[in-house]
Amino acid sequence: MKLKNTLALYGGQKIVEEKFQRFNSYDHKEVQAATAVIKSGKLSEFLGSWGEQFLGGPRVRDFERACAEFFQVRNAVVLNSWTSGLVAAVGAIAVEPGDEVIVSPWTMSASAMAILHWNAIPVFVDIDPLTFCLDPSKVEDAITDRTVAIMSIDIHGKSAEVDKLMLIAKKHGLTVISDSAQSPGGKTGGRYTGTVSHIGGFSLNYHKHIHTGEGGIIVTNDDVLAERVCLIRNHAESVVGAKGETNLTNLIGHNFRMTEIEAAMGIEQLKKLPSIVEKRTRIAKKLISGLQGLKGLYIPEPPAEADHVFYLLPFVLDLDLVGTSRDKICTALTAEGVTGIQQGYTNIHRLPIFTEKIAYGSKGFPWTADFTDSQVKYGKGVCPEAEKLHDHTFFSFLLCLYELDERNIEQIILAFEKVWDHLEFLS
Ligand SMILES: *Cc1c(COP(=O)(O)O)cnc(C)c1O
Repeated sequence: MKLKNTLALYGGQKIVEEKFQRFNSYDHKEVQAATAVIKSGKLSEFLGSWGEQFLGGPRVRDFERACAEFFQVRNAVVLNSWTSGLVAAVGAIAVEPGDEVIVSPWTMSASAMAILHWNAIPVFVDIDPLTFCLDPSKVEDAITDRTVAIMSIDIHGKSAEVDKLMLIAKKHGLTVISDSAQSPGGKTGGRYTGTVSHIGGFSLNYHKHIHTGEGGIIVTNDDVLAERVCLIRNHAESVVGAKGETNLTNLIGHNFRMTEIEAAMGIEQLKKLPSIVEKRTRIAKKLISGLQGLKGLYIPEPPAEADHVFYLLPFVLDLDLVGTSRDKICTALTAEGVTGIQQGYTNIHRLPIFTEKIAYGSKGFPWTADFTDSQVKYGKGVCPEAEKLHDHTFFSFLLCLYELDERNIEQIILAFEKVWDHLEFLS
């Protein structure tokens, strides 16, 4: 007989006995849509030459129209991943080698790699520990005469302070790119994340709110940027003559094209986005209100006006108040059966590619190239808030993984309460 009142970590009975059901937004609608494409035999209708098919097949074009309508933007362009989308977006704004682009260290590495891809220099600026997004006051301090753009990340499902970033950008003549991979359907000031900056977009990777296995969506109200990302998506260099394109900057060949199968499934997925966001937000709000008042546990405010769509639910510990380590608390929660607990997040500025400055070849390019005299610094100490959170105080519950019912939510709250009741045994 296992003791209910002993932590599962120490042999007691765990609170959550059943596995959480895996999140799955696919049903017969996507199956039918994909099957129709396969039966047609036309799995991709892109051609890498100038003409009607340069912009893709009918489903790709339909999906783009649906995205533009849904996100209320002039242009949407779909691609084979959002990593590709970020590369295309940075290329489209016509960065020059050696230009500096300000970016958050609290993101997936792909955000910074898109900058490096064009031999531009990522400059990491610390996050606000309450939003986990770029701290606008620190952004302004990091601007040099080499800065050309800010890449803002709407991380964990929460919108960054993009209005403030746009004001800073206007003052200094910069472009703002939004990586809204984790926040599709979220809003800020009544507008969808990704659409407030000059160019932004979403991931359609398997783990995101909506997905096509792999895929990405670029959104922009700038017609020139939209045209340029379409060129970069599809072997730009070979069509500029036929198209009569005169701005050749960064029109280097890629194949970032989405197939008709993914586009067909994407159309069905997009229709489900509002209900997925609604459900995710409802679950997060219940967890947030249930976990209020646990000593030393910071939880985000319940979101105002859908500005958080909860890719994951972030937590920050006050280590003095809890009197133990993050590792012990997370291990105890996991032992109680709460799967999906993740310690820390990312510190991109501490990856070896930056601290060793080895990216293209082995001799420090692009940092050592003649075209740059950038004084950029990487590694520990550059973004102290992000470092403290990653190393010691931040953990999260990966909401994106599960389809939680009322009982699951109740049990997660009970598991937290049990661990908090036993903090003294974890010190
Ligand atoms: C998922 C993700 C990406 C990359 O998107 P893919 O479609 O997987 O290439 C980029 N940035 C962030 C913040 C992400 O979460």
